[in-house]
Amino acid sequence: MLVGDFEILAIRAGTYWWDGGAVFGVVPKTLWGKKFQADDLNRIEQGFNCYLIRTGEHTILIETGLGDKRDERARERMRVPAQPVCIAETLARHSVDPESVDTVIDSHLHWDHCSGNTIVRDGRPEPALPRARYFASRGEWEHAHERLIRDGVSYLDENYDPLVESGRMTLVDGDFEVAPGVWMRRAPGHNRDMMVVTAESAGETFCFLSDLVPTHAHTQPSWVSAFDLYPLQAIETKTEWLACAADRRWICAFAHDPLVDFAHIEHHPKTRFQAIALSIVGS
Ligand SMILES: [Zn+2]
Repeated sequence: MLVGDFEILAIRAGTYWWDGGAVFGVVPKTLWGKKFQADDLNRIEQGFNCYLIRTGEHTILIETGLGDKRDERARERMRVPAQPVCIAETLARHSVDPESVDTVIDSHLHWDHCSGNTIVRDGRPEPALPRARYFASRGEWEHAHERLIRDGVSYLDENYDPLVESGRMTLVDGDFEVAPGVWMRRAPGHNRDMMVVTAESAGETFCFLSDLVPTHAHTQPSWVSAFDLYPLQAIETKTEWLACAADRRWICAFAHDPLVDFAHIEHHPKTRFQAIALSIVGS
């Protein structure tokens, strides 16, 4: 996908199957079931969606997927192949040289977004992309270490602490320009400090909405997932971002949509917004 002078690639680091009720929160299955087909354990397919931005000067990877993390039982529970695939291999499968990646952005530090940051060798986590500088939100990193009862289970310190300790990860305070035109912007709701990523070039904008809008179905503002810590704020933040995306014809991407790689957002009289797919997996 071309966005101004930037080239953007959807990098799919595999899919997993997660409880449909959790993904859609208070939305009844009679409604979400029209959009996603559940398996016999009520799980629906979700993507570990990463995106690569080539600006000409920088090669930036957003998110790093599951990598080699989670034990066999967890992998089976979410129908992920037993054999782990590291992010370098995933990139190579998409014809991207892993060595070319000089920047990695973690929208937030939940395991389903950044477990490919590091790979464990001889019991020790090392950077999976040795040439890259990593970026994450400081507030999110501090929150990860609070290990609250509600969401402590979402964090694995080996995904980021070794990078912070070795100086490879920069923790940013609020909105931050990672490279010319490429911004991390705080978008609270899913949690307090999750970042949306925008890339602007020659009057066009790409926007990775991360878990603010995890799939195309979540463009309806009241469709918030049960994982969101602040659902009312999620609705408010999402409405603001989607209005912007619709009015300015941004090219958007979702963190977990199993099919839609890129989409436009349009206003809709009934559901407020709807996603119009521009490109789906394999096309
Ligand atoms: Zn997520």
